[in-house]
Amino acid sequence: EADRALLDAEWDEEAGGPGEAPLPVLAVVGRPNVGKSTLVNRILGRREAVVEDTPGVTRDRVSYPGEWAGREFTLVDTGGWEVDVAGIESKVAEQAEVAVELADAVIFVVDSTVGATSTDERVVELLRRSGKPVILCANKVDGPSGEADAAYLWALGLGEPHPVSALHGRGTGDLLDAAMKVLPQVSERGELRPAGPRRVALVGRPNVGKSSLLNKLAGSERVVVDETAGTTRDPVDELVVIKGVPYWFVDTAGIRRRVHQTRGADFYASLRTQAAIEKAEVAVVLVDASQPMTEQDTRVISQAVDAGRALVIAYNKWDLMDEDRRPYLEREIEKDLVQVQWAPRVNVSARTGWHTDRLTRALETSLESWDTRIPTGRLNAFLGELVAAHPHPLRGGKQPRILFGTQASTRPPRFVIFATGFLEAGYRRFIERRLRETFGFEGSPIEISVRVRE
Ligand code: GDP
Ligand code: GDP
Repeated sequence: EADRALLDAEWDEEAGGPGEAPLPVLAVVGRPNVGKSTLVNRILGRREAVVEDTPGVTRDRVSYPGEWAGREFTLVDTGGWEVDVAGIESKVAEQAEVAVELADAVIFVVDSTVGATSTDERVVELLRRSGKPVILCANKVDGPSGEADAAYLWALGLGEPHPVSALHGRGTGDLLDAAMKVLPQVSERGELRPAGPRRVALVGRPNVGKSSLLNKLAGSERVVVDETAGTTRDPVDELVVIKGVPYWFVDTAGIRRRVHQTRGADFYASLRTQAAIEKAEVAVVLVDASQPMTEQDTRVISQAVDAGRALVIAYNKWDLMDEDRRPYLEREIEKDLVQVQWAPRVNVSARTGWHTDRLTRALETSLESWDTRIPTGRLNAFLGELVAAHPHPLRGGKQPRILFGTQASTRPPRFVIFATGFLEAGYRRFIERRLRETFGFEGSPIEISVRVRE
């Protein structure tokens, strides 16, 4: 018993090692045109993110790695909605709600030349209820004469308005100093789950429909502003809210920026895929259902499995599915996907949006499996029964005995089994199969390793 407890402790420590502490998240919130993106650029110290003067140009919600006074944090720019849509009020509120949910602290930007509007007041209400620390940024104070306008914003009840000119950089240092004071060192939202919204990699070979699906999931056919001089941003990750649940879609730059034609594109696409998978918790691998499965498809799936990520396989372009192709597809699934029978498969159409709701459900299932921990007691009860009913085959007159097992980590679940001798690969697979039958683990790879003890 003591031995077991010791092992558990040992392994748990290994599982949640240092260096993985999630960075605190600072979100920039406010009405359209108050200067959020300008401020974000100013904070990041670069000018590549565009500020559109044209109403109606949509921007993507993105997060950036930020740094101030030696502190690292994740900066979230929530300026992404269309400026002239109807119901802007509720849109702003929704945006703010999401930002608040995922943030450790919020910079609330108000245009001091306009003053507080009713929309601003609604957001303030929301921010106040959240209990999250809020820093009030009175933007567009380009010179001393604007300070008086800023002072009016005391009335919002959010404390001191920090006069800032995001455009010229005036006051942004003080603003950030104030933000750093309230921002925790380590993200405090990630206790139950990892840092905020789940991270999803949308991967698959070119033209399977990644970009189409991303747009569909984001709920709008957004303008993909690409390659036009001066309008390129580098949206590394995009926050997409699906049915009220925010997800980070990681590394979407490669999806949005269409680089298929360039030389060596294949190689870079593969690297990008790898990077996206590494960054994500779950990989949604898109496959073109209307085409024969290719080696490239299975390679992407292997990449996800090898990286130990949760997995969902989405058969896209189902609207193009020809009944004649069905039997071939079935055979491909049997042949090419035999190693990943545990992964949920969803038939979708990025074009029509058909079954995208199932896709998100599958995604949640896979992530849940990925996070699952089987208590040591239950695991050993399971192993005891399994061994009693199906002992390891005799080898050279000897029979390795399973002493006990423990789940060393989650994300993905890793099991260590202590035995008196080496367990054959077939028997390990048998254990995995039974583990899955008993505990689920749909959509997650699981690892089993064996330690031999004399
Ligand atoms: P967002 O919609 O909140 O992200 O706002 P933007 O960052 O796109 O800015 C909207 C407009 O306000 C742009 O024309 C910016 O140039 C302008 N702007 C932003 N910050 C300032 C500022 O500090 N002073 C002035 N005068 N204009 C600003
Ligand atoms: P990506 O290279 O993976 O980002 O693929 P795209 O999203 O650019 O899609 C490639 C092509 O397939 C485009 O012409 C899309 O319109 C088309 N496409 C994407 N999804 C579907 C779908 O579900 N059904 C049909 N019929 N066409 C699709």
